[in-house]
Amino acid sequence: MNRFEPYLNLLESSLRKLDQWRESFGDVPPPGSDKSKAIEKIVEDLRTKLQGNYPFHHPRYAGQMLKPPHPVAWLAYTLAMTINPNNHALDGGPPTSEMEKEVMNKLASMVGYQEPYLGHLTSNGTIANLEALFVAREIHPGKAIAATANAHYTHRRMCRVLNTDFIEIPVDADGLPDLSFLKQHANKIGTMVVTMGTTGLGYTEPLGDFLELAKKHTFRIHADAAYGGFFKLIEHHLPKQDHWRLLPECDSIVIDPHKHGLQPYGCGSVLYKDPGVGKYFKHDSPYTYFTSEELHLGEISLECSRAGASAAAFWATLELFPLDETGLGSVLKKTRQATEKFAELIRSENGWKLYSEPDLDIAGYFKMPAESSLSAISKMSKAIFDAGMKKNESGFFLSLFQLPADQFKEKFPDVRADQKQVTLLRSVFMKEEHLDYVDELVQQLFSVKTDSLS
Ligand SMILES: *Cc1c(COP(=O)(O)O)cnc(C)c1O
Repeated sequence: MNRFEPYLNLLESSLRKLDQWRESFGDVPPPGSDKSKAIEKIVEDLRTKLQGNYPFHHPRYAGQMLKPPHPVAWLAYTLAMTINPNNHALDGGPPTSEMEKEVMNKLASMVGYQEPYLGHLTSNGTIANLEALFVAREIHPGKAIAATANAHYTHRRMCRVLNTDFIEIPVDADGLPDLSFLKQHANKIGTMVVTMGTTGLGYTEPLGDFLELAKKHTFRIHADAAYGGFFKLIEHHLPKQDHWRLLPECDSIVIDPHKHGLQPYGCGSVLYKDPGVGKYFKHDSPYTYFTSEELHLGEISLECSRAGASAAAFWATLELFPLDETGLGSVLKKTRQATEKFAELIRSENGWKLYSEPDLDIAGYFKMPAESSLSAISKMSKAIFDAGMKKNESGFFLSLFQLPADQFKEKFPDVRADQKQVTLLRSVFMKEEHLDYVDELVQQLFSVKTDSLS
């Protein structure tokens, strides 16, 4: 059965009912000439072009952080989008603004923030982080923002936008930060960014250690949980649960519903523990139509226009998948199980190596060539990656990951370091369907002929 079949009637009847609501305001001038024939042709072209994508929906795709949204999300998004509310101001979309407040309350209680907190949806994680870093700079003007070498690359870039110094904390082969380096620079740091689920290999950074230093040296802690945030739901199944439990102690937190929240792109979020930071957003715009006394989401956001449809989609999704262990948590649990299963299969196969123990649902691994050098490992990784890139039912889709030679050597000291970097294979198992597919994927991986390389 077509995966959209069960929802097509629902979509059609809902669109009709929304049109009845539109018509209840009286006749509007007709939309001009009928363009449906021309549109049919354009949509046909579009569909053909879209088929140039990789199969993000299929568990054979275990490459980047990509998966289609849940049907309830695209249904809700589609319906709301035909109206096109703007969650910048309450009057730009009263119902979707209410939905946004509702989902933010749910996110806040998931991370363990108490009311009153401050928070809203954003267009993505980068903007959400930029906003948190903007607040960080306002609170500690003249001080630096620090993050580890494994932090998302946009933090450094955003510090340039904010004209703020950026300090990079070195990490070891397991992604653990050099805390003595941090201590040496602590008096210059206003805010430390701690990544809960790094984009590369999904590491949970040791939040507890950072919080301890933050108390002693009075810097802020911003948790970048853009990728990992929803793993909070299953924290007691995670190897680094002690750090996850401390999430509510962070001053601000970023979580991307468009990563692990089953949403289409265009949905990030930022939360602040202290609602007092709202004062940094004060503006007095002659355009904003403040007809109510309530706090407008646009008043506490760097962005102006934002899709109300995003709030509708996330709201609808959370109605179906509550933020608990049996709701959305059940999806995350499967991704975690898939990753553990994959790690076990790699560990037990001759010649294959797991680079590090996965904290979440991302694995870094490689096949050891006969000649054990960084260049040979990199060549092997690329060959296996290329072998899978077939847009048909024998394809499997991985990603490549670059690691500094010295980190790699810490774990594999016998490998000859004939270059500065090494390329590994990386897989993101972010779909629940991965759990039942891991065996097959691994068989495909192991059957790649690499004799000519070793
Ligand atoms: C994806 C990601 C970001 C950036 O978020 P976008 O939504 O892609 O803008 C920031 N930090 C981390 C840890 C991420 O994984």
